[in-house]
Amino acid sequence: MSLQGSSTDRREAPPPQANGGAASNGAVLSSQNQRLRLNPNKEHKPDGYEDMELEFCPALLSSLERYLPPTMLNHPRDDKAKFMLDILLKYLPPGERNRAIKHREYRQKIISNYQPRHRELYAVNPTSFFVPAFLKAINDNTEQSFRSIMTEPSPGIFVFEMLQQEFCELMLEEIENFEKWVTEAKFRIMRPNTMNKYGAVLDDFGFESMLDKLMESFIRPLSRVFFAEVGGSTLDSHHGFVVEYGQDRDVDLGFHVDDSEVTLNVCLGKQFSGGELFFRGARCEKHVNTGAQSEEIFDYSHVPGQAVLHRGRHRHGARATTSGHRVNLLLWCRSSVFREMKRYQKDFPSWCGECNREKKERQRSLIASRLEFFRRESESTA
Ligand SMILES: [Zn+2]
Repeated sequence: MSLQGSSTDRREAPPPQANGGAASNGAVLSSQNQRLRLNPNKEHKPDGYEDMELEFCPALLSSLERYLPPTMLNHPRDDKAKFMLDILLKYLPPGERNRAIKHREYRQKIISNYQPRHRELYAVNPTSFFVPAFLKAINDNTEQSFRSIMTEPSPGIFVFEMLQQEFCELMLEEIENFEKWVTEAKFRIMRPNTMNKYGAVLDDFGFESMLDKLMESFIRPLSRVFFAEVGGSTLDSHHGFVVEYGQDRDVDLGFHVDDSEVTLNVCLGKQFSGGELFFRGARCEKHVNTGAQSEEIFDYSHVPGQAVLHRGRHRHGARATTSGHRVNLLLWCRSSVFREMKRYQKDFPSWCGECNREKKERQRSLIASRLEFFRRESESTA
């Protein structure tokens, strides 16, 4: 049943806001006189939006498409996407909305001008991206198969061979090509985070859907097993970028935690010395500045193609890259479910080294005081 045009339709989209004037085909699908249906059209088979660079989850657009006014269902996909994004953006808080609109424009500007050098990198091709052992372990999809290709040199830190050398080389060339374009076009790009002055956000120049697939099909299965308590099985968004160290690049990286539930860190190359990662135990917000226990102190030397997987809250930093040039691919994986649940959690987090230490300390003193009590009891009855 369609309620298009009915005054009882409470899902009517709010009035649109001015669109910056850039869209030329906006007249066809203005959201001003089009309303969403109250009930979805279950027969309609929606388009897929995975390959588009959008600030919303592609699955959300596919399900929203069933609510589009009947006249719009056969419009080109781009038009439908634009219409739905305009609606979705209205439901974000104003600050967030402006940021999302600006960022969309920024990405569109890059993607419409930048010519990729190796287009084959922009969609996951498992047999040419990954080493066979990694691929087999993921296909087998058991804790045993994962453990068979990994080491856990310190609790909660997993190390494994992941990327083929050929893939790493192509990726390095693509990044170089992108940076060359940035310089030539005098384009001002946003850096990956507040701590790196060099490097680039892969999601901003076309890699978003590839990295999403990488997270969903390859990192989430591992995280479901090893990081379930931080939302490892519900990872649903990511921030993907490369960092660059060496001469004329960043030198080192201070001690910090990542804005992620699970972080994948893979070295792509090239030749370098130094640049070790140092880890100092996972900590909750409350304990982020507490000292490390000796078993939490771990240093890791990068090897091209080799991946490190750890919780975002696992404190770490990178030592100076003393010679050469080092490039690493980072994928910060996030779980919206975990972030929402955390707001209501009263228990201590089981993965925080300091919370665990405090708990053990409480148990120890409880046992000690009970023993003392029994000792006195037996003395008084003796
Ligand atoms: Zn804690």
